[in-house]
Amino acid sequence: MSKSELCYLCGELIAAGEMSRDHVPPKVLFPTSLRPGLQLLRKLPAHRECNGSFSDDEEYFRAKILMMSERTEGAEAQLRDFLDSVPKSLSLAKRLAGDLTNTTPAGLTLPAGVIGMNYDGTRTDRVVWKIARGLAFRHYGELLPSAPKPSATIGLLQGPQFLRLLKGHEYFQHVRKVVVSREAFSYAYGTERGEGAHLTVFFLEFLSAVVGYAIFHNTDCECPSCADRTK
Ligand SMILES: [Zn+2]
Ligand SMILES: [Zn+2]
Repeated sequence: MSKSELCYLCGELIAAGEMSRDHVPPKVLFPTSLRPGLQLLRKLPAHRECNGSFSDDEEYFRAKILMMSERTEGAEAQLRDFLDSVPKSLSLAKRLAGDLTNTTPAGLTLPAGVIGMNYDGTRTDRVVWKIARGLAFRHYGELLPSAPKPSATIGLLQGPQFLRLLKGHEYFQHVRKVVVSREAFSYAYGTERGEGAHLTVFFLEFLSAVVGYAIFHNTDCECPSCADRTK
């Protein structure tokens, strides 16, 4: 059985009528004007339904990284697309407006004129993890579980400095950086250095402005927290 017949999202076989080819990362995260860069992305096999279950979160993610971006070239291009699709995005826009707040999570009221942003980390983490799984499948031939281990660290950061940090970082080895499209998407990945090392890391840079990260224990890790989970 070849791996290409397996859905990289659920690990099950794909029947002919259920086949879709999913870009990793999803096409929606590429501004239209930068989509020629997509040719460099391999598409992975997935059930139409598995893939489709992410589309709301991917729309949310797209808007969120745009809001977190400085005015980079990629962000400007994505903003033009976003404004072109305003009617379709209205309910999403309402949701995003609901994320704006003048109160911090701890209940502090921010000074006048300062607006903070809540964000639905569950939704954005789900997209970061999906992309990391796709890249792990592609580069390591590994099917990561649909729910990350509790020890995994997943999130979004403003600023691409982390991608630069990873390259040449003493903590990680076999680091590779892949530039898919300078303005839209690059990523770097590697593994922890040293004896007993058990971490894999993916850093995903969007719009030259926002970095998603997934740092997780390898599938075969037998550390106490991973061993606990398999009981
Ligand atoms: Zn599937
Ligand atoms: Zn572990």
